[in-house]
Amino acid sequence: MTRLAVIGAGITGVSTASSLMDRGLDVTLFDRNRYAAMQTSFANGGQLSASNAETWNRWATVFKGMRWMLTRGAPLLVNPAPSWHKYSWMAEFIAAIPQYRDNTIATARMAIAARGLLREKAARYGFDFDAEDRGILHIYTDRAEFAHAGRVTALLAEAGLTRRAVTPEEIRSLEPALSGDFHGGYYTDSDFTGDIHRYTMGLAQGIARDGTDLRFGTEIEGLTHGPDGICVTWTRGADRQSELFDAIVICAGVESRRFAAMLGDRVNVYPVKGYSITVRLDDEASQQAAPWVSLLDDQAKIVTSRLGRDRFRIAGTAEFNGTNLDIRDDRIRPLVAWCERFFPGVSTEHAIPWAGLRPMMPNMMPRVGPGRRPRVFYNTGHGHLGWTLSAATAEMVAEAVTADATLAPARPHALRMAAE
Ligand SMILES: Cc1cc2nc3c(=O)[nH]c(=O)nc-3n(C[C@H](O)[C@H](O)[C@H](O)COP(=O)(O)OP(=O)(O)OC[C@H]3O[C@@H](n4cnc5c(N)ncnc54)[C@H](O)[C@@H]3O)c2cc1C
Repeated sequence: MTRLAVIGAGITGVSTASSLMDRGLDVTLFDRNRYAAMQTSFANGGQLSASNAETWNRWATVFKGMRWMLTRGAPLLVNPAPSWHKYSWMAEFIAAIPQYRDNTIATARMAIAARGLLREKAARYGFDFDAEDRGILHIYTDRAEFAHAGRVTALLAEAGLTRRAVTPEEIRSLEPALSGDFHGGYYTDSDFTGDIHRYTMGLAQGIARDGTDLRFGTEIEGLTHGPDGICVTWTRGADRQSELFDAIVICAGVESRRFAAMLGDRVNVYPVKGYSITVRLDDEASQQAAPWVSLLDDQAKIVTSRLGRDRFRIAGTAEFNGTNLDIRDDRIRPLVAWCERFFPGVSTEHAIPWAGLRPMMPNMMPRVGPGRRPRVFYNTGHGHLGWTLSAATAEMVAEAVTADATLAPARPHALRMAAE
């Protein structure tokens, strides 16, 4: 049987391992952490948001970003220190502006295709992930932002997504806990939320029971391409070993660029840092005062999700500062202040801060499919939508693997992407 190594056990790698296993492949999943989902897939915004599929590649984003660089507490922060990686990435971001429309539609299509697959896997393995099927509500206090959202809604409709405009009164009836004055909103009832960490852990345990070899606590040090396959060199404590696999799928988040270089490919993932707080809703009053409907404040670039009765997640901000996971107080405070502004009845006494690095490609499209050399595949670079797209891109890369005649397993595949 074909032996595959998958590098990285975040949401992307675990989903990929699952889709490969569904096709009868022998999968070994590596991660340096002791558990799945301990890096960027740990405490994200929780949204499964086709309605957030708009790519950021617009001149308006560039100009807004420049303004924000001079504003304290703005959602975007750029460390101006010279870095070839950062500035080459930004140049490629600008070069992708002409693809804004097509990439937004393509992303929304993938997000829609992912939904059913993601739920199917949770149902198959019988795990709970605090899913909330109450839709996602985009809120606007600014007329121009609201008008732009109308244009985005038309693009999303081309991908098959229904997102409807709502008045300030409708906002209040959709989410009575939300206080504040709004110009309007857009509501997508088919979007949903959950806890990415619980989901990824549940799926990892499920595929382990079904035969995937999970190699946690294993640091990948080197990858060597050869005529017989890919040699993976790893360490676990003092133990150092090399092992040959028929093929490899790189799902290593922000480390994917480094691994791609070892395999002769350029995958220009940049670590775009974001923060979240998980507000503990310990008392009855806070539980009543926190929202159940997931929110997306497009101006503040903040997303929220309710994770069961007693947790409220608020996430946002984008920081270009290399591979740096420091939790900065001045980036956490705006998230706490946002909570206190819109949900004054929620106690923020216990708000657990977290930082993660979004593995982002300059054109905002995940890199999914084969590399330049045979037997090498990628599923990485999902940026701000890694969970939303995970189940769809896992199927895409698994299809690419099985389409490779030298690797195709005997067993036919039962699941097909909903979009097909
Ligand atoms: C603040 C914030 C909010 C977000 N909100 C949302 C949201 O609401 N909805 C959404 O869809 N997305 C959201 N995202 C994006 C989403 O969380 C990411 O796109 C996704 O988690 C990336 O998953 P991944 O598996 O590609 O990477 P990761 O989860 O980072 O996994 C990569 C894995 O590779 C492993 N690895 C790397 N190098 C090595 C090595 N040398 N040896 C062994 N293992 C290695 C790491 O340990 C890690 O476990 C958000 C991100 C942030 C930061």
